[in-house]
Amino acid sequence: MTDWPSQAGVRSYFGEPGSAQATAGIVELAYPMKIAWDKKQIIKRFRCHAKVQAPIQRIFQKTLAHYGADGVAKLGLDIFGGCYNFRPMRGAKTWSMHAYGIAVDLDPENNQLKWGRDRARFAKPEYEAFWKIVEGEGALSLGRAKNYDWMHFQFARV
Ligand SMILES: [Zn+2]
Repeated sequence: MTDWPSQAGVRSYFGEPGSAQATAGIVELAYPMKIAWDKKQIIKRFRCHAKVQAPIQRIFQKTLAHYGADGVAKLGLDIFGGCYNFRPMRGAKTWSMHAYGIAVDLDPENNQLKWGRDRARFAKPEYEAFWKIVEGEGALSLGRAKNYDWMHFQFARV
């Protein structure tokens, strides 16, 4: 398992935000996903940083193996909320981890940014296995680490 950098160290490890590397990885999804803001739109792949393509791909393979296609759909683990996005961190002057292509959002509608574990869907016990899979690849859940932004996981420590 790769020892991913801290947020302060992402620039030296992954390069500049918005660089060619930040979209050079193509995740071939183990199962089709719906776009959160237009659920009629189905994707089978998405772009990310070259260095995190393999672990992200494995996360969704393992998720499918654990929950099955029906489980994945029932839990909303097939609702894609974005990966690469060239934007600053909300309410901060630094770049979002999404600007490096190293963060993934799922089911944003049910895991809103400021919601804690009392409201966020992904805080429920049935998602424990999913988070174990994510953490098994060395990625970090902001929900589990900080109790907000439960839609989000990233390949950087906080
Ligand atoms: Zn995010």
